[in-house]
Amino acid sequence: MITIEEIRKEFPLLEGLNQDGCKLVYLDSAATTQKPRQVIEQLTNYYTTTNANIHRGTYDLAEKATRDFEKTRTQIQQFIHAEKPEEIIFVSGTTEAVNLVADSYVEPILNAGNEIVVSAMEHHSNLVPWQQLCLRKNAKMQVLPMNEQGEIRLEKLADLLSGKTKLVAVSHISNALGTINPVKEIVSIAHEYGVPVLVDGAQNAGHHRTDVVDLDCDFYAFSGHKMYGPTGTGILYGKEKWLEQMRPYRYGGEMVKAVRFEKSSFKELPHKFEAGTPNIAGVAGLQAAVAYIENLGIEYISEHSYALLNYATEKFLQIRGITIIGQAASKSGIISLTAKDIHPHDMSTFLNEYGIAVRAGHHCSLPVMEFFKIPGTTRISFGIYNTTKEIDYLVQCIEKAIKYFA
Ligand code: PLP
Repeated sequence: MITIEEIRKEFPLLEGLNQDGCKLVYLDSAATTQKPRQVIEQLTNYYTTTNANIHRGTYDLAEKATRDFEKTRTQIQQFIHAEKPEEIIFVSGTTEAVNLVADSYVEPILNAGNEIVVSAMEHHSNLVPWQQLCLRKNAKMQVLPMNEQGEIRLEKLADLLSGKTKLVAVSHISNALGTINPVKEIVSIAHEYGVPVLVDGAQNAGHHRTDVVDLDCDFYAFSGHKMYGPTGTGILYGKEKWLEQMRPYRYGGEMVKAVRFEKSSFKELPHKFEAGTPNIAGVAGLQAAVAYIENLGIEYISEHSYALLNYATEKFLQIRGITIIGQAASKSGIISLTAKDIHPHDMSTFLNEYGIAVRAGHHCSLPVMEFFKIPGTTRISFGIYNTTKEIDYLVQCIEKAIKYFA
């Protein structure tokens, strides 16, 4: 069994010291994870051994680049347990995946008076595209509420669904609260009303098992950079039956079969959604990230996340003045907190002095902050490289901050 020290050695950025000579304590993996050496080396490896454009050249190098790219598609399909590689669309991240579904699936079927349901704890990426679409089409965005613990009020879902509803869009895990949502139940209820479901899996895919067939979700969106892979990579999974009937999202090279001045015809899945030159190097890096996760084992990663969550939660509950925002029964390795009336930005600036990187603010989830009537939180989020020692150090520094600002 690999030790945490061995894991940490694989992340070059964690080895370095900051300008004050402190080792970095990186607790912002929900924003983006650090990258293991395997991913970094794969990027260089791609450019030094394989670089060529894909799906067009007939020479060996181009064919190798194409083969590797398509192999990654199959690898991702297996990673999320999708049925077919054609259901895997490479995009730049969760944000683009959601916008793709908004534009290509929902927009053409959304009429005035129709509805889209989102949860009360969505990241802006899975809220604003729906809100703007509803505004454009004179449709209505319905909000599935949450309770004071930061849990979705599942019993309210059926009341929001009707023949007018065109989509339910919900996060698998809230980036602001850490809540793991009952996605399978949400899908099952929505399907009783014939409504498809998009799951924003940005905070899940790198940390816990993802099985899109078991969830039976219609779309699943996630970002490579939140699962130890490169920035600018992401995946939209869609059930073939939906992707087939959807119009392309962007138009250009390599997504067309035939082009005349009057009209064009488009390629089959998945290529009709991948216009232009994709992030080939990034996808090579994503391949290494998924291999890295699979090598460690997603169960191992998931258990590590729960262990750190439980350890830190227990510690924070003992500090007077700390309030944990989001106390759902089912949580992932994300803790949002407030400390007395210390502004989160002051807290994070203070912690930065001690080499600790945490996120402060609204975490692109302003409605969540409004619900809890707070300007923001200090958010601690874990990756596979974090240790209980780091949590002890964080706790000490937060206690110092509370004294300092008193
Ligand atoms: N959804 C959730 C739950 C997130 O946490 C994030 C990023 O923090 C996003 C969507 C957007 O991801 P990206 O910026 O990679 O598109």
